[in-house]
Amino acid sequence: MKLTGKLFIGASEVAATEGTMKALNPATNQVIEPEFALGGLAEVDRAALLADDAFDSYSHTSLTERAQFLERIADNLDAVRKELAARASLETGLAEAPLEAEAAKAATQFRQFADVVRKGRFLQLSIDPALPERQPRPRMDHRLQKMAIGPVTIFGASNFPISYSVAGGDTASALASGATVILKAHNAHPGASEIQARAIRNAVRESGLHEGVFSMLRGEGNAIGEALVDHPLVKAVTFTGSEVGGMALYRRAQRRPDPIPVFTEMTSVNPTFILPAAQAARGAAIGDGFAERMLVNVGQACLKPAILISIEGPGFDALRDAMAERVAGAPARTMLTPGIHSAYERGVTRLEGEGACRVAEGGTSQAAFDGQSVLLEVDGQAFLSNAALAEEVFGPAALLVKARNEEELLAIARSLRGQLSATMHLEPGDTALARRLLPLLERRTGRVVVNAFSHPQEVSFASIHGGPFPATSDSRFTSVGMTSIERFLRPISYQGFPDNLLPEALRDANPLEVPRLVDGQ
Ligand code: NAP
Repeated sequence: MKLTGKLFIGASEVAATEGTMKALNPATNQVIEPEFALGGLAEVDRAALLADDAFDSYSHTSLTERAQFLERIADNLDAVRKELAARASLETGLAEAPLEAEAAKAATQFRQFADVVRKGRFLQLSIDPALPERQPRPRMDHRLQKMAIGPVTIFGASNFPISYSVAGGDTASALASGATVILKAHNAHPGASEIQARAIRNAVRESGLHEGVFSMLRGEGNAIGEALVDHPLVKAVTFTGSEVGGMALYRRAQRRPDPIPVFTEMTSVNPTFILPAAQAARGAAIGDGFAERMLVNVGQACLKPAILISIEGPGFDALRDAMAERVAGAPARTMLTPGIHSAYERGVTRLEGEGACRVAEGGTSQAAFDGQSVLLEVDGQAFLSNAALAEEVFGPAALLVKARNEEELLAIARSLRGQLSATMHLEPGDTALARRLLPLLERRTGRVVVNAFSHPQEVSFASIHGGPFPATSDSRFTSVGMTSIERFLRPISYQGFPDNLLPEALRDANPLEVPRLVDGQ
């Protein structure tokens, strides 16, 4: 496929209005052809008007029609899987094979959401029939369903250039809800973004839908993202990235005359607690498994286990030695962008400046944006007295925290901010401590894992990729999994309606055969 470098506004491919950019191959530090268009406020306005214009027809598509559209996107993604992975690899320095798997996962997510749409349970239908004889006041017939919130802005993430980017779970769940989408592409992988956008845009056309269902924009600096958050026709935003960026956009949306929800997924150190019996029984295996996970994607993953908390005692040395060995054997590898690479190096320097000691380091950098793996260690008291040590360093670094005893381990758990996940390694002899630790973790995380590592994330009905701030800006929702659709839905109640004016799903005959709660039963 020849890349045009254009912006995709509905069915139109739009040339640059605010200059151009080229992608960078972070492995070679060379720019890659072609030029990509940058847009500005006029393009935001055009895309938002189209998205708004498309909303009424798209949000009223039948469940079957919408499911077929999502399946078309999946088919189109499958058809370009190899070239998408190849281009994404050039633009990110990540290996092609895992990127092909990521592209397959992205297509699967669209099929999973097609199934969610067909089953219709996301509509959460409730019917409270009229009670004309009720005293002291009759009840009117009223019926509730969920509907899409309106046109939404989605910020593509940098670190998973497909499954969290243009054709990622945010886009799949938003389109499944009936929302129309304006995608703000991440400038770190413009070619991969275009290939994905084309797959979606073509599916819009092949499905005979309004062209405004999907647009993809790109811009320089913050202006385009800010304009997408500010635009009065945009009704919700999703974002994956830094805490600084996420909170700037969140606060901006709250300052609008009509504040809108911004679902940000930002930062998590995914603490891993090693309980004493587990450490004594299999300290080396846990240390090795932890270090293996922390290095996946060059540590550039929201679920990277970044902090391991352990108690000095039997098995501790074996655990630390295994972590150190794995880290020392890791070659330095290309990081996603120059900015992420320099933020990583600053982050490691910061941790050392705060008193963490270097236990092991991997191979040294061979190229400009290679990230060297690092294992640092600090004792529990130092960790507790310095909140900066609990901050995420995005990249292949981890911090081992050595607690003196169980009380100190529990105090460390109490000190942590909100997380996407937390893990306990335990054996039957650890149950009493686990019972004390668990409520502390439940309050601070969206997911608690036992005897495994938090990565990778399942995309399923019971999966949660969310958690208390600053893991996300709204702990009631997930950004991955089938319930991520709920971010884009709002309830609407129809009162006293004639049957033929009701949405199909709420009509007396239940033509869609979707389960409904009737009078609470
Ligand atoms: P980022 O700087 O937060 O940027 C993410 C996206 O939001 C980009 O498209 C960016 O546009 C836009 N943006 C950021 N701040 C904005 C603002 N104030 N106004 C308007 N738009 C804004 O994230 P990144 O570039 O992907 O990586 C930087 C750091 O983010 C990493 O070093 C890491 O610490 C963190 N990160 C975390 C995760 C995670 O899963 N937790 C994932 C990725 C990154 P521009 O690129 O045009 O600025």
